Amino acid sequence: MVNRVLLASPRGYCAGVERAVDTVERALEHYGAPVYVRKQIVHNIHVVRDLEARGAIFVDEETEVPEGATVVYSAHGVAPTVYENSGDLRHNVIDATCPLVTKVHVQARRYADEGYTIVLIGHAGHEEVVGTRGEAPDSTILVQTVAEAEALDLPPETKLAYVTQTTLSVDETGEVIKALRRRFPGIRAPRKEDICYATSNRQWAVKEMLPEIDLLLVIGSRNSSNSNRLVETARAGGTPAYLIDDENEIEGRGSTDDEPRQGRLQRERQRYREKNPGCLHSGATGGVSTIRTASSEAKSTAGRITMALNSPAPRSIDSI
Ligand code: SF4
Repeated sequence: MVNRVLLASPRGYCAGVERAVDTVERALEHYGAPVYVRKQIVHNIHVVRDLEARGAIFVDEETEVPEGATVVYSAHGVAPTVYENSGDLRHNVIDATCPLVTKVHVQARRYADEGYTIVLIGHAGHEEVVGTRGEAPDSTILVQTVAEAEALDLPPETKLAYVTQTTLSVDETGEVIKALRRRFPGIRAPRKEDICYATSNRQWAVKEMLPEIDLLLVIGSRNSSNSNRLVETARAGGTPAYLIDDENEIEGRGSTDDEPRQGRLQRERQRYREKNPGCLHSGATGGVSTIRTASSEAKSTAGRITMALNSPAPRSIDSI
């Protein structure tokens, strides 16, 4: 039984994601369907499905977009080669890259032009990392962990600088940077932190609520870096935390067709109930790509939680 749900603040949509979704909506209004979107515009399955229903076609690569068609690039940013390919195919390109990601690209380019080797702290395969790395592929080394930072083998005269993915764990990245600074005291750092304010302040909000809660639900998609970092933030503080797509997963109905994941969630729920048979103070938050997904007629506990998450006002829901 849950008798109180605390809502993290801030939570949910960031300005960059809002802007990207808005861009696709406007493109659909202006040009009409179909509008192609390279990669998921944001890592949120509900937003993607909604835009698909309105005429957006999501593709993995710009080379899949027909010649002359309109294509929107996602908030995560793209490598220069993507622009080149679109140029060859005479695409009508609309770039919805978040300006905070663009800032990191500009920085990487500048470092490369000045002859620096760039350590890019981030997660292999994440779209943002692929895009940033693409600015200077021959001068960039990806580092994901402290162990990888410790293992870097570079000649002592190497001019070194670092940049980071915008959606990392503040704490873990701090450890990687500490290791880099210790090993390479002359390493150049960005003048201003690359992890964006929307990422860091959602992590701080989770940390702040941990002493008051027994369990954290993070509403977000599996491929959302931000949402995963919020789960890790809670777990690092000793609080069980689960990533769910929407309220259906709280109720056990499941909104995904991913059966192994459904099975895992069922087991986690069961384990939690066995360990916590009494009252429960729960917390809820959403990653930066978590949009308003609850239907207004939702009457369930889970629906109320999601609706409250979408409302800017409440800090908690009592007697749920
Ligand atoms: S998480 Fe940060 S960098 Fe990414 S889109 Fe949002 S504001 Fe921009």
